[in-house]
Amino acid sequence: MALIVQKYGGTSVGTVERIQKVAERVAKVKTDGNDVVVVVSAMAGETDRLLKLAHQLSSNPEDRELDMLLSSGERVTSALLALALQEKGFKAQAFTGRQVGIITDSTHTKARIERISADRVREAVVQGIIPVIAGFQGINEKSDVTTLGRGGSDLTAVALAAALKADSCDIYTDVDGVYTTDPHVVPDARQLEKISYEEMLEMASLGAKVLQARSVEFAANHQVPVRVLSSFTEGKGTLVTKEDRDMEQVVVSGVTYDKNQAKITITGVPDQPGIAARLFGAIAAAGILVDMILQNVSQEGMTDISFTVPKGDAGKAVGIARKIAREIGARDVQLKEDIANVSIVGVGMRTHSGVAAQMFAALSKEGINIMMISTSEIKISCVIDAKYTELAVRSLHDVFELGKERG
Ligand code: ASP
Ligand code: MG
Repeated sequence: MALIVQKYGGTSVGTVERIQKVAERVAKVKTDGNDVVVVVSAMAGETDRLLKLAHQLSSNPEDRELDMLLSSGERVTSALLALALQEKGFKAQAFTGRQVGIITDSTHTKARIERISADRVREAVVQGIIPVIAGFQGINEKSDVTTLGRGGSDLTAVALAAALKADSCDIYTDVDGVYTTDPHVVPDARQLEKISYEEMLEMASLGAKVLQARSVEFAANHQVPVRVLSSFTEGKGTLVTKEDRDMEQVVVSGVTYDKNQAKITITGVPDQPGIAARLFGAIAAAGILVDMILQNVSQEGMTDISFTVPKGDAGKAVGIARKIAREIGARDVQLKEDIANVSIVGVGMRTHSGVAAQMFAALSKEGINIMMISTSEIKISCVIDAKYTELAVRSLHDVFELGKERG
């Protein structure tokens, strides 16, 4: 008998019929003799619908109230699924994040889990009850409701799997696994059997929106193997797990892209110690995540600094950059939004050379200009003009032969 944590995403619980189907899936695992703990997202589109309502009433809604509002979506589905299971003759109970002891910090809308007791879940399981937990939420020390960032139900599932020492953490979504790249862009994209946490993290944070990035981080830190599967088709999905030998043999595991970044350039920046610290300190203080940073060689004591931020934060970041630019006597601040970040990811890059050169050659062959480059041990990213995104992804997928079977 195994203890299985299952998480169902928004599309999987998007209608009453689909909740019915999920109940059947859960019921089967239970009747097969396993203990099952279920985490659910809000019904597809619900979180966005609630956000829209908030913005109709407020030009700048408080994050604390947004959390009260958004957490309701998951509560609805947890109760509905529990009812569906009861109707089938199973013992089931719905719980909120608070009831299962998910304690977070107070960063409303992006809260971090500090601890998780899961006592109520354990009690329920012992009594043969199927706990159905509202994902995406916890409470802070003051008992205010917090949410875990968009896609945060994944994190609820992984954190519960870790706390319960579950045998398996299965994330049911609307895709049947993790692919070498976006199958909408490259039709011969291939589903990966397994992928390392680190690669998944690069893929997730780069826009392969299968799993919330923070949930992958949590899984890596607590060594929780996570399986990504579709709730609409049968299949083994993709296992996200610790790195092994086979993975290293493959140089590039995937090609990802992100059109959700904007580039900000500050020109004529006095080249002095402390300037970058001041600029990026102010941006970090505003809670904005900077991805790439590029500083040019200085000429006559002046330099240019470019960096990328999520598009949604671009306005705020430009405001901060303008203010600092004035203070330090820089020349100008420019914003470019029609960019894309295209990356290749693979743990095999640690042991293979010449990968970057191969990537640049592939882009140049298509006549694509590279605006910024950044590398890590297992990733090479290039910022390019957004209009070439699909072309770049296709040619990289080709050059690194990702459409073919491994080995
Ligand atoms: N409902 C939340 C969202 O749409 C959390 C989740 O689905 O995981 O972001
Ligand atoms: Mg999701």
